[in-house]
Amino acid sequence: MNDDRRCRAKAKGTGKQCKRAAINGGTVCSMHGAGAPQVKRKAALRVTQRKAELLVDRLGEMRDISPEQAILECITEAAGNVQMYRRLVAEAGLPLDSQDSTHPLVVLYNQERDRLFSFASTANKIGLSEAMVRISERQGEKLVEVLEAVIADPALSFDAAQRDVFRGVTAKHMRAVNA
Ligand SMILES: [Zn+2]
Repeated sequence: MNDDRRCRAKAKGTGKQCKRAAINGGTVCSMHGAGAPQVKRKAALRVTQRKAELLVDRLGEMRDISPEQAILECITEAAGNVQMYRRLVAEAGLPLDSQDSTHPLVVLYNQERDRLFSFASTANKIGLSEAMVRISERQGEKLVEVLEAVIADPALSFDAAQRDVFRGVTAKHMRAVNA
C-alpha cells in the first residue's frame, strides 16, 4: 500500500504500524479513531479541499497581474468571506466574539479575519494606498488624453465653440459618474 494511504497508528503491543488503509482524507483507519465524528469531519474537509485544489490547478488561468492588484483582490475576497462567515455564524446562533470557540464556523470566521488582517498589513507595508492613487491618477490622465484626441479629430470637424460645448458636456457626465 502507498505509504501516505496507510494508517499511521502503531499497535500497542508490537509498536508496528497498522496495516489497514487510512480513511479517505484522514491519517488513521476506522479501528484507530477514524470513526469519531470530528475525525470524519476533518477528513471530509480535506477531501473537499483536495478536489478544489485539483480543480484550480486544472482550470486556474495564468493572469498578468500586478502585486498591488493581487493584494487588493485578496483583500476584497477575504473581506467578502469574513462577511459571509459572520452571517453564517449569526444564523447558527453562535457568539461571534468567542476567539476560543471550536465550532467549525467560528473557527473559519476567525481564520478568515486573520487572513484579511494579514493581507491588509501587507498592503500597508508595500504602501498600497499611494500606489492606488498613482494608478487612479494615470487612468484619469489617459481619459483626458482620449477625450482631447476625440475633440480634435478631423472626422468630427468641431469648431472652437463646439469643442467647448463637448468639454462642458463631458465634465458634467464625469461628475455624475463620480458622484
Ligand atoms: Zn489502523
